[in-house]
Formats: sequence, C-alpha cells, structure tokens
Amino acid sequence: MKTQPLYDNNPFQKTFQSKVLSCTQADTGYKVLLDQTVFFPEQGGQTSDIGTLGDGKVIDVQIENDEIVHYTDIAYTVGTTVTGEIDWQHRFSKMQQHTGEHLFTGLAHNKFGAENVGFHLSDNTVTLDLNIELDLEKVRLLERLANEAIAEDIPVRAFYPSDEELSQIEYRSKKEIDGAIRLVEIQGIDMCACCAPHVRTTGQVGILKVVSFNKYKGGTRVYIACGLRALADYNRKMDILSQTYQVLNCKEDEIPEKVKALLLDNKQQKYEISEIKAKILMEQIEKYPSEIVDVTIFTEDLDAKNMRDGVNALVEKHEGLCAIFSGNDDDGYNFVIGSRTRDCSAIAVGLRELLGAKGGGSKQMAQGSIMATRSQIEQTL
Ligand SMILES: [Zn+2]
Repeated sequence: MKTQPLYDNNPFQKTFQSKVLSCTQADTGYKVLLDQTVFFPEQGGQTSDIGTLGDGKVIDVQIENDEIVHYTDIAYTVGTTVTGEIDWQHRFSKMQQHTGEHLFTGLAHNKFGAENVGFHLSDNTVTLDLNIELDLEKVRLLERLANEAIAEDIPVRAFYPSDEELSQIEYRSKKEIDGAIRLVEIQGIDMCACCAPHVRTTGQVGILKVVSFNKYKGGTRVYIACGLRALADYNRKMDILSQTYQVLNCKEDEIPEKVKALLLDNKQQKYEISEIKAKILMEQIEKYPSEIVDVTIFTEDLDAKNMRDGVNALVEKHEGLCAIFSGNDDDGYNFVIGSRTRDCSAIAVGLRELLGAKGGGSKQMAQGSIMATRSQIEQTL
C-alpha cells in the first residue's frame, strides 16, 4: 500500500497534509491516491469517513487493489501538497458506535459464549449478528453491563502484537486475517481483531442502547445506538410519544390502554355501520318490482357478507341475473352475482375475459373484483 494510514495510530487526528500521488477520472468525480491519510476507508462492515481535501470534498473512500482510494468532486494536480480534514462529528459517532459494538459483543461472548458472525456500521444503523439466540432478559442484562462498563471509563487500546505476544493472547476474530493483526482491547472485558478507529476509553461511548433485536439465521441480530446517536433516537421516540398522547389526550403511560379501547370502539362502530348499510340495502332491494328480471345495483363500501346477503334476497324475487357491485370507477369494484336461471360462473368467466375481472364461483353464485368503470360493466353485462 502506497498510503500511510494515519487513523491507525491516532484515531483523534482530524486534519493532515499529504502529497497527491495520482488523480484519475472516476464515473462521477475523481479517484485520488495520497501518500498519507486520516480518511478511514470502508472496510470490516464500517462505511468510510467523509470530509474535505483542499477545495474539494471527499465523498467516499474505498480500498481498491490494496490502495486507499479517495473519491473526490474535484481534480488535484499530482505532486502538490493538499490539506485534508475529516468530518469529525461523523467520524467520532462511528468511533462511539464501533467501540460500543465491541463492548456489547465482548460481553455477550463472556456471558453467553456468543460469537460475532456479522457487523454493519453505516451512517444510520449499527447491527451486530450473534450466533446464539438471545431473549429480552439477556439483551437487557448485556445492555446494563455495557452501560456499567461505560460508567467505569475503562481504557480502550489498539495495538499490533508481535507473533510471540499474539500466541499468548486469546482474542475474538470474525475471520482468518492475512498480514499483521491489529488488536483492540477493552481492558478486562474484550480483545478483538479490528482495523477501525476507536475511542480512548469506554466513557467516550457515552451510552449504549439496544434499539431492537430479532432472530436472525439461527442466532440474533441486535441493533444498537451509542452516544449522540442514541440521544437523537431517544428524542425521535419522545417526539412520537408526545404527539401520540397529545392526539389521544391522555398521559404517556395510558397510551397502550387508550389505543386498545379505541380499536375496540372502532370494531364496534364498523359492525354497527355494516348493520345499517345492510338495512338500507335490503330496503332498496324491496323497492324493485318482482316483474324486473335482471337487477344490478351499484353502491359503495359494502362488505362481502352484506353483498352476498343482498344478492340472496334479490335472487328470491327476480329470476334473471342479480348483481351487486361495490366500489367506484377509480378504484374498481367488488362484485357478487347470483341467479336461479343463469350460469354465474360462466358470467364471471365472461367478465374476466372481457374486463380482466378476478374471482369466480358456482353456477348459482360468483364473486370477485374488477378494475373497470360502471358504464363498461353495464355494457358488458
Ligand atoms: Zn471492530
């Protein structure tokens, strides 16, 4: 590798000067190689640093053919010296999340023998995958232990051990690593092979919150948020809560009961509305003189049961085709058709062939849905 990775020894270095080794056109913007950099490239599940380089922006940093490639929005003259600066808030947040991840995974390893089988750290999500199933009680325990370790402000150290030292050290590693192994130690809690920048002490993680977790490939996927990211998440959730209890006009703790009561009420009202609609439909049906052979009713918002009941009532009085279509021209219609004398399943097939209707049924009754206008349906029938 031509570029000296300055982030390796000093994760708190924000600015640097560097010589431009090469600059070539990329699909969008330019690819720049430097003789040294503080920009951490995307690797090991963590997305890259962003920031500025001279007058331009560094949008992405990738390792390509064993070189650290800076993707920039402007071109640079080869051989000149440029000043670079990483977006420190962005980087520091990543360091908080990453050390938090080591802390949680290290504790899961110590407490429950869990192995880390996956890790992803982007600008809005941190996930860690463990090979064992965790329940809420275990997750809460690990979360509490992690926050106790944060309060203890334990030193975090990254170092390259000699081969001899390495043979004496037990450490976690997601995969076999070629070349020099860099270890990150959280004293007394965790030792893990890792290439990323970390905070100096666990206290700098601030807080670790498990945002959610779920079963994943026979183990558990845990979503965490640390430091200011956890604070932002807390505020987001507080906003959702306060909007909710204002709308519901109740205290925060009363939200679940209030929502349950509303849903029950809603169900009851739907039932009552459906009863009223059924009554109106039956009154409408009674007004058709029985001499009319075929009856087609267009209406809105009738449920399937009311439509079937309606068609059954029509069929008793009228000997031709009896049909109810519920819906509108924009969203289409649900339909039920019935007849004593005509083949309803054949009519449903006809509606399918001519108007693309879905559904079917028996000779006596068929039902389905149709994306067509009222006049198209009337002409087809
Ligand atoms: Zn790591």
